[in-house]
Amino acid sequence: MILDGKKEAALLREEIKKEILEIKKKTNQSPGLSVILIGDFAPSQIYVKNKEKNSKEVGITSEVIKYSKEVKESEILEKIEELNNNNSVSGILVQLPLPAHISKEKIINAIKPSKDVDGFHPMNVGNLSSGYKAIIPCTPLGCLLLIKKAEKNLTGKHAVIIGRSNLNGKPIAQLLLKEDCTVSIVHSKTKDLKSECQKADILIAAVGVANLVKGDWVKKDSIIIDVGINKVADKIVGDVDFEQVKNKVKAITPVPGGVGPMTIACLLKNTLDCFKAR
Ligand code: NAP
Repeated sequence: MILDGKKEAALLREEIKKEILEIKKKTNQSPGLSVILIGDFAPSQIYVKNKEKNSKEVGITSEVIKYSKEVKESEILEKIEELNNNNSVSGILVQLPLPAHISKEKIINAIKPSKDVDGFHPMNVGNLSSGYKAIIPCTPLGCLLLIKKAEKNLTGKHAVIIGRSNLNGKPIAQLLLKEDCTVSIVHSKTKDLKSECQKADILIAAVGVANLVKGDWVKKDSIIIDVGINKVADKIVGDVDFEQVKNKVKAITPVPGGVGPMTIACLLKNTLDCFKAR
């Protein structure tokens, strides 16, 4: 089973669009997303453009606020405060990475937790790890939705996550714990990565090393979620050697067309959820 992220993301966007239409009919209001983009880093510009396009398609009012890479940190903090207090803004996102003179920690902490559509604010991180209601980071949420397409009941499954970043590995682990999985997180200092991966009923690779996971690293009939995005000779590949692994497992996400499209769809979902919560 190929877990088609493009198709699942399109279905999710369709649901969101329908819901926003109904809300608009009843209340004449719709969710608003403000994206702050600093500098001219090409991948960030592409991500933000896609986020804006997708938002508009489902009926989210979207604005991109652009700054040069020399902008002062205080100016960004002031803008975030203004957006925090603006009732027509449901969600705020500051596109990462930031220039070196701007503190990621200060910026993330400045966003009102109830508008933190990326789910990076310590309040949301803490709520997620405490098992309380939280805004869930978009890529981890996308991973969970794809896993659920392959297997509804995850109770007792052994999930192995390669990577321990705040962005991916750690929140994915929290989500799967909540689903009653037995969770292992492995990383660059893990002694025998291959044998840890071989134990996985669900293997999630969020590493950034092209084709790291080989055919003999995976268990038969397992579920493989490939978060990695790596450029190899002008081609985008994941962290999993797709050709070696695909025929051995129950389900696998391709790269591109797997987790990536789900990430933006989950951002739209988070924006709608923030709007509804207000
Ligand atoms: P990150 O912050 O660089 O973290 C990578 C993790 O992988 C770290 O925990 C690191 O271990 C571990 N690692 C690195 N090399 C390893 C190795 N050889 N063996 C085992 N573990 C290793 O990366 P990230 O932000 O989580 O992103 C991971 C990948 O996902 C990247 O390719 C990124 O482009 C992609 N990504 C995709 C999406 C999407 O929408 N599909 C979204 C975000 C990111 P240590 O902690 O020990 O250093």
